[in-house]
Amino acid sequence: MGKTKMIGAFAVVLALALAASLAGCGGAAGSASSSPAESGSQPAQESSTMSASGSAAQSQGIDYLALVNKLNPLPEGWEDALETVHFTNSVGDDVEVEKKAYDAYLELKADLEKEGVYVDLDSARRSVADQERIMKEFTEEYGADYAKKTVAQPGYSEHHTGLALDLYLIVDGKDVVENEDMMEYPEIWEKIHAKLAGHSFILRYLDGDEHITGYGYEPWHIRYIDDAAIAEEIMGEGITFEEYKAGKVYPEVSYDYGDSKLYTRAELEEAAIQVKCDFAAWEGCELHNLRYAGDGCNTPENVKWLNEIDEGAGYVQAVELIGDFHSPVTEDHPSAWALDTEYTDYQWWLGRTEDGGWQLVSSGY
Ligand SMILES: [Zn+2]
Repeated sequence: MGKTKMIGAFAVVLALALAASLAGCGGAAGSASSSPAESGSQPAQESSTMSASGSAAQSQGIDYLALVNKLNPLPEGWEDALETVHFTNSVGDDVEVEKKAYDAYLELKADLEKEGVYVDLDSARRSVADQERIMKEFTEEYGADYAKKTVAQPGYSEHHTGLALDLYLIVDGKDVVENEDMMEYPEIWEKIHAKLAGHSFILRYLDGDEHITGYGYEPWHIRYIDDAAIAEEIMGEGITFEEYKAGKVYPEVSYDYGDSKLYTRAELEEAAIQVKCDFAAWEGCELHNLRYAGDGCNTPENVKWLNEIDEGAGYVQAVELIGDFHSPVTEDHPSAWALDTEYTDYQWWLGRTEDGGWQLVSSGY
C-alpha cells in the first residue's frame, strides 16, 4: 500500500531537511528533522535491522578519510561499496548509517549517557539519487535558480557517505530537534564534542570556519573517520577536515563591523557568514578580512539594483561587505585570479527580505 506515496512523503521530508540544513548558509533557521506527524503513518520498528546495500564482497571498501564537500564529490563506486544499517530513531524516522559509523555512534551514545547527556540520530545517509530527485522537484516547483541556491548539488553532500551524522538532543526526556532550539544548549554540545574524537568522530562545520567548510556552524553534524588518533589530532588542534586533508592551516579572518545604526553586530556577522560560505568554493583562495562598508550602502538605489539582479526576490535592505583575499599560490587550483596575488577591497553585496536572512547577490569590483 501506498509505496509511491511514502516515497513522495519521504522526498518532501528530505527536501525540508535539506532546505533547512542549507539554511545555515542561507539565512533562516529551521529544522533538520521531519515532524513526528509524518512518522505516524509508518509502523515503528521493534528493533534495528541490518542490510547491506551494494555488493561489498566485490568491492575495495570505502575510504573513511574521503573528503566530500562543495568542491569534492563523492568518490566513484562509493555507493556500491557502502554497507549500511537502518534503524528507527526516537521520533519514528528511519535512519540509514554506514555500518562502522553506526557501531561507533552507539558507543559514543552510551559514553554520553554516563554523563547524563542523551542524543539520537536525526539523519545520516542520503543517496545521490535522493538528492537528484529533490533537485528535480525543486527545479520543477521553483525554477532552476532557486533550486541551485537551496538544494545541495547531488554528489557533493557529505551525507552521501553514510559517515556524516546529524545528532539531536533529548533534554529532560523531550526531543530537541529544531536547529534553533538545539543551539540553546551550548554546554551540552561542549560535552558531546569532547567525546567525539575518542570514538573516531570529528566535528565538521566549525564556528567561524565557514570560508573553509562552506557551511555555517552545525554543532550536530559529526563525521566518522575510523581513526581515533587522527580524530584527536583534528579536534585537538581545532582545525577543519579540509585543513587536515590539505596539510595546511588557514589564518584567522579578521573582521571590522564598524559602528552601524542600521544593523546589529549579529546581523552583520550573519551577512559575513553568507559571504564566507560562498568564498569556500573559491578553490585555493585565502580570505584575510571582511569589513562593513557603512550604513551608506543601504540606499533605495542599491536595494533596487539587488532586486534587478535577483528578479522577484523582494529585498528591502542591502548590505555591502568589503574584504581582502589571496589568490591561489600554485596552478593546482583552477582559478580566474592572477596567481599568488593579494586582492584588496573586493566587494560583496547582500540583500535581505522582510522576513528572511541575508542572501549574497553580487560580488566584484
Ligand atoms: Zn548534516
